[in-house]
Amino acid sequence: MELSLNWLKAIPRFIEDYDRFKNPPNYYITFPEISGNASFIGGGYLFIGEVVKNWIDGNFTQSCPACKETVYVLRVGCSLTSGRGLWTGICLKCGKVESRTNIPGVLMQGSLCGKWSGELGYRPIIQESSPYHYTIQDGLTRLGDKEEIRMNVPLWLEFMKENYPDCLE
Ligand SMILES: [Zn+2]
Repeated sequence: MELSLNWLKAIPRFIEDYDRFKNPPNYYITFPEISGNASFIGGGYLFIGEVVKNWIDGNFTQSCPACKETVYVLRVGCSLTSGRGLWTGICLKCGKVESRTNIPGVLMQGSLCGKWSGELGYRPIIQESSPYHYTIQDGLTRLGDKEEIRMNVPLWLEFMKENYPDCLE
C-alpha cells in the first residue's frame, strides 16, 4: 500500500518547524499535492520552503467557506483570461476544502510566484566555476569547466519517513 501524507497533522508541524524549511536543500522539497498553475505565469510543484513561509504570512491561505477559519492552500489552478479556477486546501477544523472563490490572486501574492519546479523530486542545479590551473606541459589550461552540480534535495517520502513518520498513513 502506498503511503499518503496526512496534511491535517503535517501543516501545523511544518509551520512550527519553519526553520527546517528555510534553507536548501529542504527548501526545495516538492510534494505531489502542492502545486500551482496559472495560465499567464505557468506553474508547477511549489517549493515547500516558500509554501510554509506564505502559510505563515497569510498569503497562501483562504477563509474556509464553511467555518471561516484559515484554510492552508495546497493546490491552485487558475486561468486569468476566463477568471475560472479552483483551489484545494486544508482547514484544520473541517479537513479538505475545495473552492472556486478568490482564485486569481492566490498564486500572485507573497513570494510564491516562480518558486516551483515542473517535476517532483527535482534537484536544483548549482553552477560551480573551477579555477584556472597552470601546468608546465600544457601552458595555461583551464582544467574542468563550469560544472553542473545537482543539489541533493530529499524526496518528499524519504524526508517524511525520516522526520515526520507520524504524519504518514
Ligand atoms: Zn473549516
